[in-house]
Amino acid sequence: YQMTNVVLNQLIMEVINGFKHEHAHAIYLRDEAVVTQVWADYDRLIQLFTNLISNAVKFSPEGGKVAIRIRNTADEIIVSVTDEGIGIPENELKHMFTKFKRIDNSASQKIGGTGLGLAISKAIVEAHQGKIWIESVESIGTSVLFSLPINDNSDQPDQLISKHQTNTLTTKGNVM
Ligand code: ATP
Ligand code: MG
Repeated sequence: YQMTNVVLNQLIMEVINGFKHEHAHAIYLRDEAVVTQVWADYDRLIQLFTNLISNAVKFSPEGGKVAIRIRNTADEIIVSVTDEGIGIPENELKHMFTKFKRIDNSASQKIGGTGLGLAISKAIVEAHQGKIWIESVESIGTSVLFSLPINDNSDQPDQLISKHQTNTLTTKGNVM
């Protein structure tokens, strides 16, 4: 994992733009977060959003909306990817992050996939000390939500430099 400060709303727009060939769905970002910077692996987060948005597109009908919402609490950022698709039966929800797990019904069988996207997504979120969960109502839609701790190190290097400079000056001052 290659950790940097990642501006989440910019990253999400980049992923949405990567789906620009996708004209059957309206994919949009609802940004309600005050803090959108996280300490994260940029490429893994791209992969995470790509997995979740591709599921939302795949398992929902043409003309459906896919809404990515981002908000924050005092200590975490919460992201949801919501579609207007076929949904997931309640008794299956807790199994969906298992590798190769796919819903075994006619609606899902027509749609391709290997069943790895959500397992990989869970691994990525947990590697960032976050949590991931699903809320879904069959034939209404699905939200996949995840949290990421707010832990941006944006001002740390600057603080270290200025502290160091202050010490240097003080030392010089003392010597003189
Ligand atoms: P892959 O992601 O490896 O191409 P996949 O999309 O089938 O294959 P996952 O992304 O892991 O696999 O999802 C697992 C299963 O969960 C899916 O096969 C589908 O049954 C269900 N699922 C995932 N996302 C949604 C969604 N947004 N709406 C309805 N069902 C979903
Ligand atoms: Mg998938």
